Amino acid sequence: MPQHTLAPRICGNCDGFATATVTTGAHHADGTRKTLPVDCPACKGTGRTLPASAPASALVRR
Ligand SMILES: [Zn+2]
Repeated sequence: MPQHTLAPRICGNCDGFATATVTTGAHHADGTRKTLPVDCPACKGTGRTLPASAPASALVRR
């Protein structure tokens, strides 16, 4: 009898791309852009959804 393991589900909010990098508009002294990493608010940067701990606000019902 096969055992079913809970496979990690890809976060539907960010589609697995849990951390985005945004530019601040400022530049470093060497000319490169200053960036900030921003985690997905739904999965907290994990890229996965955990059904047991998914907040109700992450569920969109229409
Ligand atoms: Zn996410």
